[in-house]
Amino acid sequence: MDFPNPFHPAPKRRGRSRLVLQTTTASLAALALAACGSSSGGDEDAAGGADSGYPDQEITIVVPFAAGGPTDTVTRLIGDPMSKSLGQQIIVKNVAGAGGTLGANQVSKAKGDGYTVLMHHIGMSTAPALYPKLSYDPQKDFKPIGLVTNVPMTIIAKKDFPAKTLEELVTYVKANSKKVTLANAGTGAASQLCGLLIEQALGVDLTEVPYDGTGPALTDLVGGQVDFMCDQTTNTAGQIKAGKVQAYAVTTPERVEAFKDLPTTKEAGLPEVEVGVWHGLYVPKDTPDDVVKKLTDALATALKDQNVVTKMADLGTAPEAADQATPEAHATKLKEQLDLWGPVIKDAGIKSE
Ligand code: ASP
Repeated sequence: MDFPNPFHPAPKRRGRSRLVLQTTTASLAALALAACGSSSGGDEDAAGGADSGYPDQEITIVVPFAAGGPTDTVTRLIGDPMSKSLGQQIIVKNVAGAGGTLGANQVSKAKGDGYTVLMHHIGMSTAPALYPKLSYDPQKDFKPIGLVTNVPMTIIAKKDFPAKTLEELVTYVKANSKKVTLANAGTGAASQLCGLLIEQALGVDLTEVPYDGTGPALTDLVGGQVDFMCDQTTNTAGQIKAGKVQAYAVTTPERVEAFKDLPTTKEAGLPEVEVGVWHGLYVPKDTPDDVVKKLTDALATALKDQNVVTKMADLGTAPEAADQATPEAHATKLKEQLDLWGPVIKDAGIKSE
């Protein structure tokens, strides 16, 4: 889906991103090498049969956010069928920090041999404007493999937050902007972008609480340590259904099948906050085209997998259509989104220090 320019009119912002509390994924490092699937023949001799020899060893997909969050969840979901179709184990490695830019940077500098792959989302298109010194170029330093899924976000708050509807949340946040805390996954994260849209729409500058991913942010929200946030349904579905958080709206133009009762932001009076978190796979720029093709084919197979389709539906999303899971469609989307968000973010004067 495409979005209207959501920052207009954009009030001038002062210094941003006051840091109140920082959790890290240090304790999650042990999870960094958690395997998400196993192959039918993963030893050294297993390359036999593959024409170009690729893949003849395990493949690592780098997730630039903490384990247990929505980007991680989607990666593990497609990692299993991709592993089966490639005949090699796929390892999911969480390289979290700096709103997804740490992990993306690491993959941009990796060997282009198809054994290091990046899963990233809309943050690929917002980071260049947010980070003046970004050490990679999303278009020049990567080859796109294909789009994976476009996930709605939900606006949620801790259970005892004194607002029952989005309208009440808007009123409360405006009246209490000095004390309300807004969790996100750092500058460059989708949750940060969505939070900024809310701040812009309300004309407030809230205390942001950055995490290395919205997995840990959601844990703190459920625990009542932070007040509210935006996050993909692929992370929030379980807690919403279990009644552990209050959910106010989905950020998509249409309602989401899995949460039929939740209004859209447009229906609930915040039309400026419309954002879909599109995800895609990337490899370093010098990866050979035949390797890219094998990864694209494996992605296409994974997106048709019945388990992936069913689980994504439960989580409020759906696999991308076959014609979107291609390098060409992915490159087009990336360019369109860079062109959309770059000027918007620059005009709003938002950048990371
Ligand atoms: N949902 C996060 C974001 O705000 C990232 C994550 O933890 O997957 O970008």
